Amino acid sequence: MSLEFRARCPKCDNRAFDAPEHLDVSHEVACGACGHRGKLVEFADLATLDAIVEDLKIRSLRVLRNTHGLKAGM
Ligand SMILES: [Zn+2]
Repeated sequence: MSLEFRARCPKCDNRAFDAPEHLDVSHEVACGACGHRGKLVEFADLATLDAIVEDLKIRSLRVLRNTHGLKAGM
C-alpha cells in the first residue's frame, strides 16, 4: 500500500515515526522520544487514518470476494 504515514506524539510532539508494518487503527505505537505508548489512532494524523480505514475496507472486500469463490484480481 502506498501511503504517506504521518504521525505525531500527543505528549511530546515528536514526529519521527516509521510506518508500522501492519497499518491498523488498533496497532500499538511507542514514541521513541518520550516513551509514550498508545493506539495508532492517538498518533496518526487524519489523512493517515482515512487511508488506513480505506485500506481496511478494501481488504475486507477482498476477503468477501474470496469467500465467494471469485479471484480478487490481485
Ligand atoms: Zn513522545
